[in-house]
Amino acid sequence: MDRSTLENQTDKLLILVVDDEPSLRHVAEESLLRGGFSVMTAPDAEQALVLFRTLSPDLVLLDICLPGMDGLELCRLLRSEPRNREVPILIMTGTGDLESIDRSYEAGATDFANKPISWPLLLHRLRYLIRTTGLSRELQENQERLVAAERIAGLGWWEWHLTGNRFQVSELARELFGLDQVAFDGSRRSLLSWVYPEDMPKVQTCLAQVLDQGGSVELDHRLKEHCSSVVHHRLTAIVDETGVVTRVFGIILDISARKVAEERIKYLAFYDDLTGLPNRHYFIRQLEMALELARRWQKSLAVLLLGLNNFKKINDTLGHSVGDRLLAECAERFTLQLRKSDQLGLQGETPSRFNGDEFVVLLGEIREAQDALRVARRLTAAMDAPFVVDGQSIVLSVSIGISVFPENGENTELLLQNSDAARNYAKGHATSHIQFYTQSMNEDSRRALALESRMRQALVNQEFVLYYQPKIDLVDGSISGAEALLRWIDPVEGFIMPGDFIPVAERSGLIVPLGDWVLVEACRQSMAWQAAGLPPLKVSVNVSGRQFPEENFVSRVGEIIEQSGIDPRFLDIELTESVLMQDVEKRIENLHDLKKQGVTLSIDDFGTAYSSLNYLVRFPIDYLKVDRSFLVDIPVNRGNVTISSSIIGLAKNLGLKVVAEGVENVDQLAFLQAQGCEECQGFLFSRPLPLVEMTALLQGGQARLPWRHFFPGT
Ligand code: C2E
Ligand code: MG
Ligand code: MG
Repeated sequence: MDRSTLENQTDKLLILVVDDEPSLRHVAEESLLRGGFSVMTAPDAEQALVLFRTLSPDLVLLDICLPGMDGLELCRLLRSEPRNREVPILIMTGTGDLESIDRSYEAGATDFANKPISWPLLLHRLRYLIRTTGLSRELQENQERLVAAERIAGLGWWEWHLTGNRFQVSELARELFGLDQVAFDGSRRSLLSWVYPEDMPKVQTCLAQVLDQGGSVELDHRLKEHCSSVVHHRLTAIVDETGVVTRVFGIILDISARKVAEERIKYLAFYDDLTGLPNRHYFIRQLEMALELARRWQKSLAVLLLGLNNFKKINDTLGHSVGDRLLAECAERFTLQLRKSDQLGLQGETPSRFNGDEFVVLLGEIREAQDALRVARRLTAAMDAPFVVDGQSIVLSVSIGISVFPENGENTELLLQNSDAARNYAKGHATSHIQFYTQSMNEDSRRALALESRMRQALVNQEFVLYYQPKIDLVDGSISGAEALLRWIDPVEGFIMPGDFIPVAERSGLIVPLGDWVLVEACRQSMAWQAAGLPPLKVSVNVSGRQFPEENFVSRVGEIIEQSGIDPRFLDIELTESVLMQDVEKRIENLHDLKKQGVTLSIDDFGTAYSSLNYLVRFPIDYLKVDRSFLVDIPVNRGNVTISSSIIGLAKNLGLKVVAEGVENVDQLAFLQAQGCEECQGFLFSRPLPLVEMTALLQGGQARLPWRHFFPGT
């Protein structure tokens, strides 16, 4: 029979009686059964052990004298097993045998009973014994649960008894927080000796407060032993019935993990994970605070909004992980530039990451707008060196828009909005550019936006047309080609010149589909002229800086050549220097690819932008188009005479042909002919012509050219 079957029969408590005397076992069994217990009996220690281990009795009644192993030995053996420590063991001894009583207790007995046993009395004692054992077991279990809970919660406590000036610390508090009871020398300072020294004053203040006013106070502070951990500390004064504080009780909770999480949340809320820079929210806060100060002290401040040019393309072509690394390096470069500027005495310079490829810098105090310009220049210079990612060199440029308080805006919103407007202006340039905000910008950007949407519509409505300006062979005056020039005929506004819409188209990206249309149309027209029986004519097409670097530009040109059927030798692509000087190595590669399509290449407006001779040699180009500004007032303007003749000489040395633009008078013509310039275009010969007129001019043939009298010998 095991314990569970016994219990199933009855809820009664089970008593194991161990005695070698059968009569005693018999009496015991009867008395105990009558007393409401269940009973098992054993005549010796061996059998008792078997029963004990299988049935786990609630109490053992054990005779001291047993054959073999005696009662005391059995008692000791039972007690040696930890799970049996709580079971009450009552040892039956001879009356007045004090020595046995002593030895019984030493062996771990809970109590003793004198023989002969008075069973009615013993029943009472047994019930009492079992109850107290139950209570103490419950207490013990509760305590264990409490300690486990404290450990899980990271909770410790201390108590200071004012009466007697005793200090007590929980086991866990010592273990977790390094609190040491021994160090308590009775002083209040030593009471809190475990507090981080810097935080001690505030904890002392709280202690003084609860001593003085009673109640509880809570605070967070660090610990001396583990200064990186933070605890939440609640001090409570316990008062007696007269209101006098008798004890102070402290509970400490380890909140380090929570603090770390809070810090992380705070970090993520105010910092950008990728670059480690403050983020937009942080920046706006800083700007608001700086504005407060600037208003109070009547100072100026500046907001510099930085946008990386063409960054989207980098992400698209090289992937986001390269993009991310570039952003992080930009952040580093900008930060370095700003640190140095502390020497300028500019306060509050903070680079922040604003949006994807945008950064923003706050110059918290500037004396004049020039201060902002100086910083902006350093920031653009920081982009000069190419970035190297995975062994490839990448050139980035930055557009910076600057707005200044109070001139360009009184509040955060306006300053940001206006620096953004300025930045948009700066973006129109091929290289890094800095732009201060001006009042007209908002008006301009509104107009630009309206123009942009009208332009989109115009493209659909086919409101764009091409005009053609003949290029003249300077030897015989024949038409050597024609430049296709874009015109917009708006049904309401009429004629719109490229200077008025191309910059907007470039900024918005609309130039890409528009430029594509120009290429298609120019090639189509060239073939239409041939179909009408005219000899093949070289057409020049202007290609924007925005369009040329497009990934599929070269293949698109190939496609257009194929679809139109044009002989590529009769297609000339005009590019400006500034387009080529950005990311030069890549551009040289693009030019070579383009050349492979069989087209010729021209550098347009030559001399107006910076270009290095070094590179010029490496560009696979065919023509240099001298900008018309160098022909102004020739031959009177000696400077222009020198420049033009140098450019022509240079081109000849490089084996390039020269086309002079903007020839308006015969003096210029004579000069160019004398210099050996090959071709020219200009109002002296013809303005850009609408299709019908250009066709008529071509059909008229050489003999009917209006300018034939300039070439009398031919
Ligand atoms: P560009 O490529 O340098 O074109 C020459 C410009 O000079 C044309 O202005 C032409 O009308 C003007 N011009 C020609 N001869 C003379 C002259 O003797 N005197 C003066 N004062 N001007 C002369 P237009 O047509 O207004 O075009 C201006 C610019 O717009 C072009 O300069 C070119 O950069 C751009 N553009 C025109 N069509 C397109 C196009 O289809 N695509 C792109 N991307 N840009 C274009
Ligand atoms: Mg041109
Ligand atoms: Mg030009």
